[in-house]
This record gives sequence, C-alpha cells and structure tokens, in this order.
Amino acid sequence: MCRHLGWLGREASVSSLVLDPPQGLRVQSYAPRRQKHGLMNADGWGVGFFDDTTPRRWRSAAPLWGDVSFDSIAPALRSHCVVAAVRSATVGMPIEASATAPFTDGRWLLSHNGVVDRDVLPLSAAAESTCDSAVLAALIFAHGLDALGHTIVEVGAADPNARLNILAANGSRLLATTWGDTLSILRRDDGVVLASEPYDDQPGWEDLPDRHLIEVTAERVTMTALNPTKG
Ligand code: GLN
Repeated sequence: MCRHLGWLGREASVSSLVLDPPQGLRVQSYAPRRQKHGLMNADGWGVGFFDDTTPRRWRSAAPLWGDVSFDSIAPALRSHCVVAAVRSATVGMPIEASATAPFTDGRWLLSHNGVVDRDVLPLSAAAESTCDSAVLAALIFAHGLDALGHTIVEVGAADPNARLNILAANGSRLLATTWGDTLSILRRDDGVVLASEPYDDQPGWEDLPDRHLIEVTAERVTMTALNPTKG
C-alpha cells in the first residue's frame, strides 16, 4: 500500500502539503501510522500539480526522505491542485519512476493505493509501466473519470481481493475512491485535503467510509456509496 494526498483550494506550496506537516508524506515514507499493508514507502515518490491547466510531475524511484534536491525546490512549487504519493511496491512489480504515481493522460493526475491482479485488466499500450497501478490507471483513463465509480466496482467484482483506493485530479475536481484502505478528509478554510492518513494531529480530520466515491470541487464535497449493482 502506498500513501497518497490530494489538494484542491487556493494556491499552496508543495512543501507545505507534502514535506512540512509532522506526519506528512515525507514522514509517511518511513513511518506511516495507518498503513495496513507494507511497513514503509521507500520504493519511490511522485508529486504532480497543475500549472494553470497543465499537469506537471516530478517522480523518482528513490525514497522521498533522502531527496535533498526536491526538498530545496518544493517550497517554490505552488499550485491550487496537487496529487502526491509515496510508494511501497507490491511484490513482483517493477521499481522505476514510471511505475510511481501520479500517472497522467495529459489531463488528469491519478494515484492508486492498493493492489489488483493484472490478469483481470485489459492490456494497454497506453500504460506507463507494467506495474498493476499503471495498467489500472490506463483503464480508468480509457473509460473516463466520470465513470470512475463504475470502473472500480467492475474491477472489484473481477478481482475480489483487489484494493482500489484511487485519487485523481484535473485542476478543478478532486476524485477519490475508498476500496480496502484508509482515506481521510480535512476541510480547511483555504481548500480541501484528501489523504490516506492525517498529516497531523490537529482537529478537523474525518475518516471516510469504505467503498465510496468522493468528489471535491470548489463548491462542495459529495460522497456516494459504491454499490455493486448500480456502480
Ligand atoms: N500495487 C502498486 C505498486 O506496486 C501500489 C502499491 C501500493 O499501494 N503500495 O506500486
């Protein structure tokens, strides 16, 4: 299981979201508190953000805690919409930057926290890596993000052991699913954070229920149960 974080709100620095919080993704890379699968997230990291409407990414197959160059630059990276992740590779998956979230189709940034049997997914030339998460991302992009809930229910039915926590953003919408792992929300005055686990112990964090689709826009947060019959 990896850990991921999404931000939609006023412009904020990447360091304030990912590196500075006392239990943020940097700390979660070696000492996550709520991770149920895997001990640490040392197999890479990725930060994606929207530069106006253009998604931009910085990914690495090395641990986040040791990246002094990123540490120096992150305070200068500012965005209204961010998707970041630290990775604990599933056994058998390649460890390479291209297997590290966030994945993109040029419009969306997407992270997968979980595992899925690649045999239930269609092969895709568009997948950035042979990693299960990259193949799943290609399927989600092919179906379109408006069908995210439906796609997750379908994949979950095909692989009952799958864990399918997705986090995706396009600059104006933040979408997430809970399917087998933790996710929390923090509604701040200046925006909304969705994160695999709280990045601090301040009040305000709420745990989200499993098997739900969450959508955050500038106006509202909506939550829908992922129902196998209706998707
Ligand atoms: N299965 C994915 C990978 O190998 C994601 C792993 C995770 O959530 N830890 O990268």
